[in-house]
Amino acid sequence: LTSRLPQVGTTIFSVMSALAAEHGAVNLGQGFPDFDCDPRLPDAVTAAMGAGHNQYPPMPGVPALREAVASKIEALHARQYSAATEITITAGATQAILTAILATVHPGDEVIVLEPCYDSYVPNVELAGGVAVRVPLTPGSFRPDFDKIGAAITPRTRAIIVNSPHNPSATVWSAEEMQQLQDLLAPTDILLISDEVYEHMVFDGAEHQSAARFPGLAARAFIVSSFGKTFHVTGWKVGTVAAPAALTAEFRKVHQFNVFTVNTPMQHGLAAYLQDSAPYLQLPAFYQAKRDLFRQGLEGSRLKLLPSAGSYFQCVDIAKVSDLSEADFCQWLTRELGVAAIPLSAFYRDGFDQRVVRFCFAKKDETLRAALERLRRL
Ligand code: PMP
Ligand code: GLN
Repeated sequence: LTSRLPQVGTTIFSVMSALAAEHGAVNLGQGFPDFDCDPRLPDAVTAAMGAGHNQYPPMPGVPALREAVASKIEALHARQYSAATEITITAGATQAILTAILATVHPGDEVIVLEPCYDSYVPNVELAGGVAVRVPLTPGSFRPDFDKIGAAITPRTRAIIVNSPHNPSATVWSAEEMQQLQDLLAPTDILLISDEVYEHMVFDGAEHQSAARFPGLAARAFIVSSFGKTFHVTGWKVGTVAAPAALTAEFRKVHQFNVFTVNTPMQHGLAAYLQDSAPYLQLPAFYQAKRDLFRQGLEGSRLKLLPSAGSYFQCVDIAKVSDLSEADFCQWLTRELGVAAIPLSAFYRDGFDQRVVRFCFAKKDETLRAALERLRRL
């Protein structure tokens, strides 16, 4: 068999979680909370099952959930999306991104990705027969370099994938940067896949600048989010895509023959939960406190803290503690010190190594303290 993805192995998140489990390490590698969600959420799902919501929902998703998503976007970003024709419920953000790519990228089309980037983007483009054009974020600051992005645009460019708040660097795009992207794309018909799964994790009083806020971006954008991140239920794998009707129509053509639809009781549970509260409004303070606890614990250590403006990640420079490559350091840290992390090189197709690793602080305070106690020995 000739591999469709010859350059790809097992995703780093599975590898590091397995290694952490094998060595009983504190797992700050793969990004997921080690605490449970609000109990009202599983209660709402159980109620939905008891009420008989156990058969296929409509292909684009349960209407009440699509309405709730449209209302939330309107409340936060002052843009109206039609629940009927512009919002689709997906099996997590991962499926949303793959489906958006399969629905729009033709063989030979180019898709610009900004490295480091989430590890599914490049393989997704390749599965569509496209070419991923990798543009580096500015080394050190991880900010977008619009000259470099502009220089990467060709007549074959079909789409660009942008992710803010950013995994893994924890940077957050400013309104000015979104505006610059809008200006750059204005004379083109390039589509935007805006991965906004960490939309509710923005710190220090800053605001998430959704593509929905920028008319010239919204008109060309698939805006992707994930209930897994927002409600501490990564294992539920339920996400959303908001996109103009013409783009949504193409998206749904692929979605219907990919997963067709997404599990019914979870959608009803999420809809009920969203209807009677806005729990995501507490997320910035909740995660900022965890970020601060983790950062304070590392102050004075030889791990150099990079800024963390959003997401639930904290990157550190390891140059002062080790000569190992990022990947070897993460293996060593897991086996010998008992803390798992993710090497940034996993977010680059060519494995670029800048001596930076990523920790996830979506953990109980006691978990963070246990990790810190070990990390301070470095
Ligand atoms: N995009 C980014 C940037 C992510 O960090 C993740 C989750 N790790 C995803 C997409 C996938 O989200 P989901 O679990 O909803 O598929
Ligand atoms: N998004 C999570 C991370 O970056 C993990 C997702 C996954 O395991 N595929 O750590």
